Amino acid sequence: MGVRVIEGHGEYGTETGAVLICSTSGVAFGPVMKDAEEADVFLEFLGVDARVLSENDLMASYSEFLNGTRICEDCEAEVAHVDWKEHQEDHEYERLRAE
Ligand SMILES: [Zn+2]
Repeated sequence: MGVRVIEGHGEYGTETGAVLICSTSGVAFGPVMKDAEEADVFLEFLGVDARVLSENDLMASYSEFLNGTRICEDCEAEVAHVDWKEHQEDHEYERLRAE
């Protein structure tokens, strides 16, 4: 039970997309996102169960997500939401190297 992410490729394998599905009803909903990683960060950004939002609110939130930024607590940099996962991975890599 919950929201899951399905990632797939287009007919010619050149496009990739990811959508949210409700695992209870099997219904896909919301925007087609770039990939599963972006979808994961978007879900974290929402902070609520995506299923409680209307389609309009979900699309508005996605637009906000694509254009928005957040402040990294580690380095105080302003990071675009869409780059957030990569930014966190860079810090993780630095931490591992420092050990
Ligand atoms: Zn940082």
